[in-house]
Amino acid sequence: MLHKLIIIGSGPAGLSAAIYAARADLSPIVISGHTPGGQLTQTSAVENYPGFPSIQGTELMQKIREHAAQFGTKFIDASVTKVDFKTKPFKIWVGEEVLEAQAVIVATGATAKWLGLVNEQRLQGQGVSACATCDGFFFKNKAVVVVGGGDTAMEDATFLTKFASQVTIVHRKPEFSASKIMQERALKNSKIKVKYNSEVVDVLGQDKLEALKIKNNQTGETENFACQGLFVAIGHKPSTDIFVNQLELDHGYIKVHDITRTSVEGVFAAGDAQDPRYRQAVTSAGSGVMALIDTEKYLESLE
Ligand code: NDP
Repeated sequence: MLHKLIIIGSGPAGLSAAIYAARADLSPIVISGHTPGGQLTQTSAVENYPGFPSIQGTELMQKIREHAAQFGTKFIDASVTKVDFKTKPFKIWVGEEVLEAQAVIVATGATAKWLGLVNEQRLQGQGVSACATCDGFFFKNKAVVVVGGGDTAMEDATFLTKFASQVTIVHRKPEFSASKIMQERALKNSKIKVKYNSEVVDVLGQDKLEALKIKNNQTGETENFACQGLFVAIGHKPSTDIFVNQLELDHGYIKVHDITRTSVEGVFAAGDAQDPRYRQAVTSAGSGVMALIDTEKYLESLE
């Protein structure tokens, strides 16, 4: 069956596009991906989404999904394994199943970055995590380290003080890049300590995390810092691997021109997959709507 529009991704960008598409009678199909609801489902309280002074990320995404479903969006809760944008109609594989679409909106978002240490990978799930909201609960009365100096690191560190006995932020620079308000909130918390100019160079422990080897990059000194949890909060990588050789990319981000158009006519992009700069739920939602408005015009031009 040929669909008018397939939206790949179910974060704020994909779902906002779906709300508009459903209301425009385009019968959109949303392929949710491996993290339905996207990154906001892995954060704690969201305080900057208009209309919601404070709401849990999972709840916000559930509401937006229900909103999209209410107007007739259909969901496929699976991941896209392959695409062919070289011929029309576009082809999208979900496992063995092939779906065809006249237009596609790519809103696949981004995922957490890791430090790239061998033992970091080995001990993932055994003390090493990139999602404080998901795993913080397991660290009641434990000592944990958060790596990073941006808003995520501040937010994760503050959140983890609800469970952990002590939270140490390890940051490679002499100051944080996080917004003032988030820094202040973290720094005034008596459970949070900071190691500036410091890098985690190894993750130690047999079956579970026991300590981190931390190097001071000013003095060159290293120490074994005892802790049971490591939360890596150093940014994100766009989820665009399946679009290599299909869409033009720039450092992994989908290259857009005229705001939402990709290098393939009829394929549009929205949200963090094409945005290394703003990366906010609200801006993602807005870009999803812009992509949909451009998609609608494109579909009209085919008639
Ligand atoms: P950022 O890119 O803002 O920050 C990444 C941090 O990790 C920087 O301090 C960076 O240090 C450090 N870092 C990067 N790579 C490494 C590495 N290999 N080793 C050690 N440290 C490293 O990412 P965030 O995830 O913090 O934030 C992303 C966006 O999401 C931002 O726009 C932010 O404002 C937003 N956000 C908003 C929130 C809210 O408002 N509630 C909550 C969370 C995020 P360096 O400076 O040295 O590169």
